Amino acid sequence: MPIVRRGMRGTENPSSSSRLQVLTSHLLTPQTAMASEKEAALAAVPSDSPTIFDKIINKEIPSNVVYEDDNVLAFRDISPQAPTHILIIPKVKDGLTGISKMHTPVNGTSDYTGQETITFCFVARSWLRRHCEILGRLLYTAKLVAKQEGLDDGYRLVINDGPKGCQSVYHLHVHLLGGRQMNWPPG
Ligand code: 5GP
Repeated sequence: MPIVRRGMRGTENPSSSSRLQVLTSHLLTPQTAMASEKEAALAAVPSDSPTIFDKIINKEIPSNVVYEDDNVLAFRDISPQAPTHILIIPKVKDGLTGISKMHTPVNGTSDYTGQETITFCFVARSWLRRHCEILGRLLYTAKLVAKQEGLDDGYRLVINDGPKGCQSVYHLHVHLLGGRQMNWPPG
């Protein structure tokens, strides 16, 4: 049964250090915020190690959760880039540090023969199925949360991937942004 929570917009609760981070992020100009996001992304080392999001999932650090079920957690971004900025993440990332790590079926299995090929294809298919399910759940949750947030006039979903995509946390996540007019092209 999903748990839906409506916290105060754009705030983390209740530690003073995270409140300070939010206040600091609100004092930044858009250019500064953008530069620091880019710097954070360029400084981040792509890896399958646990991230800050694992701590949020395990409730080791506070976050402002707006939706939770057995598979997915959605919480407000600590450095919002729009009046509504929510991150939607799988509780188990299953190797999905980013969307580019979704399992890609291998075209040729010429290196494998007989039973090896059958086993390989079976494992590959089940991996791909799991990854597609995770992605589907994230997108479906984004739609539910957008409705819950009253973003009836539209919103934007973003998945950053890798250093050039400005990804700073290597745990697959969808950004849900809304509450203001979006521009195109994005920066
Ligand atoms: P990425 O740059 O990887 O696409 O997005 C990571 C997002 O995570 C950033 O927008 C950043 O503000 C957010 N973030 C990083 N650390 C925390 C945290 O401790 N709490 C919350 N709520 N968001 C965080």
